[in-house]
Amino acid sequence: MPDEIITRFETAGGTRIYRLPLQVFPNLRAYAHVVIAGDYVALIDVGSGQGQSDVHLRDGFARLASEWGEHIRWADLDRIVITHAHIDHHGGLNMVRTLTDAPIAIHELDRRVIVHHEERLALTRFRMGVFLRRAGVDEARCAKLLGMYSWSKDVFRSVAVEDVLRDGDLLDGRFRIIHVPGHCPGQICLQLDDVLFTADHVLPTVAIFLSPESLNAATGVDHFLLSLRKVKGLPGVRLALGGHSKPVHDLDEAVTKIESIQAGRIARVYDACAEPHSVAELTTVLYPAVGAYDELLALQKVGAYIEYLDQRGLLAIANLDEVAENEAGVPRYRAA
Ligand SMILES: [Zn+2]
Ligand SMILES: [Zn+2]
Repeated sequence: MPDEIITRFETAGGTRIYRLPLQVFPNLRAYAHVVIAGDYVALIDVGSGQGQSDVHLRDGFARLASEWGEHIRWADLDRIVITHAHIDHHGGLNMVRTLTDAPIAIHELDRRVIVHHEERLALTRFRMGVFLRRAGVDEARCAKLLGMYSWSKDVFRSVAVEDVLRDGDLLDGRFRIIHVPGHCPGQICLQLDDVLFTADHVLPTVAIFLSPESLNAATGVDHFLLSLRKVKGLPGVRLALGGHSKPVHDLDEAVTKIESIQAGRIARVYDACAEPHSVAELTTVLYPAVGAYDELLALQKVGAYIEYLDQRGLLAIANLDEVAENEAGVPRYRAA
């Protein structure tokens, strides 16, 4: 059991929310949320399905009874919402499906990751290989990184999804769906009364993961920044509950902080391009101490910032002749 209590919140309309801590990876804590309004019970996100995550989720339901007097059975669940198709949020579905038939809802752009997982993994693995070679990662490292990429995801088996969400939908007459692409193509926030479930979109104390949209459409820095503006100034939000960080009581302040962190990262990558670098070289400069899976994440992040700067004409390719004449050429970017 994680050494963290289950926290209870209440919306202005009297709906109860419980925040269940889950250890989704050895170094990553996440939260699932149980929403109770009269007879209606919803579960938002289900953890990774890896390590202790499933156990923590099942224990969480038991602790709702022992610590809060909420006797919720899995069979009572009316709804499962997946905020986005990253394994730390949807991986628990295989276990959850054995306990409940509650309909699953996810944004239309992330549905295929859940319902065609094996096919999707094969295609993204191929695209990841193209990205890594173009970034300047050598073949041996590329094979190692691709192995890690698949390993973290290939334990999940496809699950049917009953409901598809779009921006502006009102799910179950309660949750207003706000589509915020960037961190993930189908990333959503859900507004319930004066509470906003922000999942991985607003995480002021966690380094947000971004990948280039050349790798995955509707991701990237540009989409993420536009989506931050979408939730900034959202009327009537008193409390924001994210997928990995502490509750946020001032959403606009948190978004402003994230915008300034992003501006700093963009500037840092731009400054590092004073000398020509490939994406892999820049990753070594900017994230010198990362190893294993974090290296793969760092390469994608640097790729995302390079893409953002390049889209704006702020970078030039120092070895254009080499890249123009050779499909396997590795672009080396410098500030234009
Ligand atoms: Zn995520
Ligand atoms: Zn996450």
